[in-house]
Amino acid sequence: MTIIREEDFIQSIADGFQYISCYHPPDFIREMHAAYLREESPAAKDAMAQILVNSRMAAEGHRPICQDTGIALAFIRVGMQVTWDTKRPLDELVNEGVRRAYTDKLNPLRASVLSDVDGKRKNTGDNTPAVTHVELVPGDKVEVIVAAKGGGSENKSKFAMLLPSDSVVDWVLSVVPTMGADWCPPGMLSLGIGGSPEKAMLMAKWGMMEPLDLHELRARGPRNRAEELRLEIHDKVNALGIGAQGLGGLSTVLDVKVTEYPTHAVSKPVALLPNCAASRHVHFVLDGSGPAKLEAPSLDDWPKLTLDLSTSRRVNLDTITKEEIATFKAGDRLLLSGKLLTGRDAAHKRLVDMMSRGEKLPVDLRGRFIYYVGPVEAVGDEVVGPAGPTTSSRMDRFVEPLLADAGLIGMVGKSERGPAATESIRKHGALYCIAVGGAAYLVSKAIRGSRMVAFEDLGMEAIREFDVKDMPVTVAVDAAGNAVHKTGPAQWRARIGKIPVAVA
Ligand code: SF4
Repeated sequence: MTIIREEDFIQSIADGFQYISCYHPPDFIREMHAAYLREESPAAKDAMAQILVNSRMAAEGHRPICQDTGIALAFIRVGMQVTWDTKRPLDELVNEGVRRAYTDKLNPLRASVLSDVDGKRKNTGDNTPAVTHVELVPGDKVEVIVAAKGGGSENKSKFAMLLPSDSVVDWVLSVVPTMGADWCPPGMLSLGIGGSPEKAMLMAKWGMMEPLDLHELRARGPRNRAEELRLEIHDKVNALGIGAQGLGGLSTVLDVKVTEYPTHAVSKPVALLPNCAASRHVHFVLDGSGPAKLEAPSLDDWPKLTLDLSTSRRVNLDTITKEEIATFKAGDRLLLSGKLLTGRDAAHKRLVDMMSRGEKLPVDLRGRFIYYVGPVEAVGDEVVGPAGPTTSSRMDRFVEPLLADAGLIGMVGKSERGPAATESIRKHGALYCIAVGGAAYLVSKAIRGSRMVAFEDLGMEAIREFDVKDMPVTVAVDAAGNAVHKTGPAQWRARIGKIPVAVA
């Protein structure tokens, strides 16, 4: 009889979350590298190079791949002959492991989980509770998958109750363009088709934990409808031309998973979940002999790439003017140096609330750039922990007052802006740049100094002033209002030529 000790289980969960914070799965690296080699769009290729270089750096430095270290997910298949040496419920043991992992002294992970979701939205402090799914299966072992899912990709989850005669492929092709680049492509799409609404969602989530093997499937040929769908959706989504980070290119998805289950005669429930450039999960099995042993992968699994910065323009943030900003074009690659403020959701809301009450702001925004970021806590001699960009569209509603009344002239974040924010940028001759989502450790190496400026009580959302040196960004909306997330995908979709380009 297999007896699972409480401490072995908790430590295995903790080790699993630490492991995935800094190690991409090897199949993900292999497929990302293959997509990088195939890519013909310079902007997308550069973004993938940053993701791969960042991944290797995170593995070497044992620090998080992305500043969003995710909501903690645990999938547990418990053999029915297993006995537990504990009186505590399973999800409490998972939470204990998550707490241990996220408050680790050597590699603290960002606590992103809030309670009182529609109220005060208070950070729980240690990223608990996890979301735990348990299945009872035959056997005498416990199979565990732990995964950390970033908010940017999780927020783009889709569900539809299609009519039985509706096409799943058409539905996918209608929703993927609406997801923009917030989910940090290239990554994976996982579909759950059938069952009931919650079953479809759960199947899609489980499917996301499968290894990337689309090329093997293509080589041997599909054996059923689910496998046919995987190939068709993969090819048609990539023909949309969205590309890495939405910049336009050949690879938007590296793989597509489809899991099916019988459903009611009048129903066709379909769930679509994206997994981002920070795909993080690990599988292990407990057999009663002790905690899981997670071997560090070999660095030989990562390609040795260097970033080509030769076509990037150097920009001094301490002397930049609107006249200089007007010379940048959407798609230009820049290297930012100088003083860069930080701030995201809560700080923006507080600033704009203060402005509406006529109060003096705690920081002068005139002539300044702000970076939408919530970094991981620094350790050792780090200035700051991994510090990649967060989704900019959440700050769209604050753009006009900050540009018009507070004097801000530039923003750095990730993915596209909405029409109103784009128009504000044009109207005020400002600039919006993107850093690569999922390249957080790489970006943090460009940050040479950091000081607290305001709203310290907001923790990772406080306003800081970074001193940056050659921070790589791409102009996403230029002062004339041109948006690379519109022009890039349209250009590559036309070039791929498999799907008609809609004229806006
Ligand atoms: S890669 Fe993008 S979507 Fe994924 S966790 Fe990081 S910021 Fe979020």
